[in-house]
Amino acid sequence: MNGDSGIGLDLLIFAAHPDDAEIGMGGTIVKHVQAGQTVGIIDLTYAEMSSNGDVETRQREAAEASRVLGLTVRENLGLPDRRLASVPEQVDKLVSAIRRHRPRRVFAPYFIDRHPDHAACGRMAEEAVFSAKLRRYLPDEPAWTVDNLFYYFINDMHAPAIIVDITDVQERKMAALRAYRSQFEPSGLQPDWVETPLTRGYLDNVAARDRLFGQPHRLAYAEGFIAKGPVRFDLF
Ligand SMILES: [Zn+2]
Repeated sequence: MNGDSGIGLDLLIFAAHPDDAEIGMGGTIVKHVQAGQTVGIIDLTYAEMSSNGDVETRQREAAEASRVLGLTVRENLGLPDRRLASVPEQVDKLVSAIRRHRPRRVFAPYFIDRHPDHAACGRMAEEAVFSAKLRRYLPDEPAWTVDNLFYYFINDMHAPAIIVDITDVQERKMAALRAYRSQFEPSGLQPDWVETPLTRGYLDNVAARDRLFGQPHRLAYAEGFIAKGPVRFDLF
């Protein structure tokens, strides 16, 4: 039971790294913000193991992307990049974030992804959503029950169960992604710049994937999701 306290955020999104949430669901975020809903992103790490860019640059870029998206909340849990794991010391930070922000819906990276940290983040979020509702788990914090957990896609493409039409806001999504210049620029901003999968047309691939997700419903662009558990669907 959620007791007396009401909904905090409409959408709370967990991401392993700043830019993950933008890649997977930047358009869905903008759509919800434009509809007057509150959206927050919790980045688990500062992406300190990224091949390009440093933590300070990446944080500046994340702040710029947050403004473009219109986020209510953006936080970083400071967990160790490349060492994300479903252990209580780490998952409990996600539990506290859920209880602090009392979201209606939680989103996390799908647990099958080329990058092990994305997969780990998805599994950690699943555990955190479960523990957050147990009133005897860390009882000093009021328990919170989330309505639904949804997974978004980062590197890999899977058949979605749900798609969201982002045609009207796709350009805004790309603007948020372009804020991460240190990750996606095809030429070096820094002397020790290296070519990575992100610098080889990655943003074009994101747009292409969103086009493919839209195709079955004749939409120009869509984002795809998979739900954990049943999604309530009222006919009237
Ligand atoms: Zn990532």
